[in-house]
Amino acid sequence: MDKRISAGDEIDSYCTRCKLTLGHIIIAVVGEKIVKMQCRTCNSIHGHRSGVAAKRSSGGGRTAAAGKKPDPVQTLFALWERCIAGAESGREVPYAMDKSYKEEDIVSHPLFGKGVVQKTHYRKCRMLFRDGEKTLVSSNT
Ligand SMILES: [Zn+2]
Repeated sequence: MDKRISAGDEIDSYCTRCKLTLGHIIIAVVGEKIVKMQCRTCNSIHGHRSGVAAKRSSGGGRTAAAGKKPDPVQTLFALWERCIAGAESGREVPYAMDKSYKEEDIVSHPLFGKGVVQKTHYRKCRMLFRDGEKTLVSSNT
């Protein structure tokens, strides 16, 4: 139990946003104390809270007062909604693997629904859909 910790290390810790014990990247260490770390699941940066997982509020008094912490699914949904709203083309294009896309294009996929092109690569695009980011084949060059 004498393991030294330093920034960049990966640890399992309680994420205040996901409300789960998840992998975190340590961002800042003061002395031997972690002061900042980033959750690998929701990417939120927060301090180290040990032993929080054991405590559970029954009535929702203190935890509710500590601020709203959306679950990751809701966060993703909000991000997706923001992307759709922020996409400039405003026009949906049906997804086809022989088409090329540009960033911020809104793509409608038969299976995943509406998505926004995040990044284009050679012969593929990264798109954000309601249920997460996916890499799809395209004819981008
Ligand atoms: Zn998290």
